[in-house]
Parts: sequence; C-alpha cells; structure tokens
Amino acid sequence: MLLACHLFIGALIGYAVFRWKGSALAIPVAMVAALLPDLVDKPLGHLFLQDTLDNGRIFAHGLFFIGMIAAASFAVRKKHGPLAIALVAGVASHLILDGMWGNPTTLFWPLLGPFTQEQYPDYFGNAVVAELTAPSEYAFMLGVAVIAAAVWGDRLGPRLSSLGNILLRHRRIVYGLMMLVGVGYLIMALAGGMGAQNELILSAALLAGGASLQYLDPAGPSPNAAGS
Ligand SMILES: [Zn+2]
Repeated sequence: MLLACHLFIGALIGYAVFRWKGSALAIPVAMVAALLPDLVDKPLGHLFLQDTLDNGRIFAHGLFFIGMIAAASFAVRKKHGPLAIALVAGVASHLILDGMWGNPTTLFWPLLGPFTQEQYPDYFGNAVVAELTAPSEYAFMLGVAVIAAAVWGDRLGPRLSSLGNILLRHRRIVYGLMMLVGVGYLIMALAGGMGAQNELILSAALLAGGASLQYLDPAGPSPNAAGS
C-alpha cells in the first residue's frame, strides 16, 4: 500500500486515541508506527538485501515484529498508555492495509520458511511514480491535513494557520471527496474481480476514513479537538 494511505490511517488511529485518552502525541506516534514496517523493510529489502531478496515486505511485515512491538508497548503501558496503544494499532494497520494475509510466509515468519526472493528493477523510481499518479494519495493527504489543522492549527504560524482554517471550513468537502474517491476504487475493484484486492482495500480505507472523519469531525465542537 502507498505512503499517504498508511499515514492517513495512522493519523486517524492517533486522533481516535487522542479523543479517547487525551494525548495528542498519539497522532504522530501512530503515523510513524503505521509507516514503520516500510521504514524498516524497504531500505533493508530493496537496498541492503537487493542481491539476495529484493523483497520490501520481510521482517517488519510479520507477526513476529508486531509481537515485539506489542511486548515493548506492554512494558511501558502504565507510563505511556495512549502511546503504547497508538504504536501497536499503527503497526497492525500497516499489515492489514498491505493485505499480509495473502503472504503467509512473511506474515508467520520464520515458521513457514525463508522470505521469498523477488525482483523489482528500479523499485524506488517506480514507487515515486506510483505515489504521484494515485488519486487516492491526494485524498488521503487532505485527510491528514484536516486532522493536523484541527489539532495543531494554532501552532503552525500565521500563514499555515490561515490555510488550515480555510481547509477546516471546507472539511466536509474533504470527507465527501474521500468517500467519492473510495466509491471510484470500489467500482474498479468490482470490475477487476479477484485480482483487485489492492483497490478493494483502498476503497475500504477511503470510505471508512471519510465516514470516520465525518463522525469524529476533528474541527467540530469537542472539548479536546481544537487547540489542545
Ligand atoms: Zn508495507
């Protein structure tokens, strides 16, 4: 799954934890956690192990890794409860969005044998093109911007702050846009049949993401939402 999709779902998880437990730090923690498996595995698999594996979904895309993260989070739960939840939920969201159930060798590593060797000539070049040409990425980035503007808008300096206010005034358009793009991906998924798992996951993330934002409404009248 692409970058902004992971970032948005991380931001949404962090925002939900923030509303629930009151720690705004849960948002960046969940965002980094939601990217963590790629931050570990893409450089490791496609750069350092390019000659042997060239596979960007390895160690950090499995249950063993999330088990280690969960154990570490459990250890600090008393002092940093909200952040521990954000960390585990963020990493779990990455594995779900990547549809890792379709790759049991990696998911259950090392129980089912070694990682598979793959081939991605110019992985990072292709990744940049995929990022820039996916409509979903722009919708997800708008969603992240709404959450950031609602939570930190008043700390971003006058220029970014007024941009944030414009975005927040039109936030319901962003929620609607996310769901609209989600419907587009759903149609693509239905047309693509069994091979369109990625589109199906994307559409679920956009539809659920847009609906959750609509429900939580980060800029709405909540005691925690603005300026805390
Ligand atoms: Zn990944």
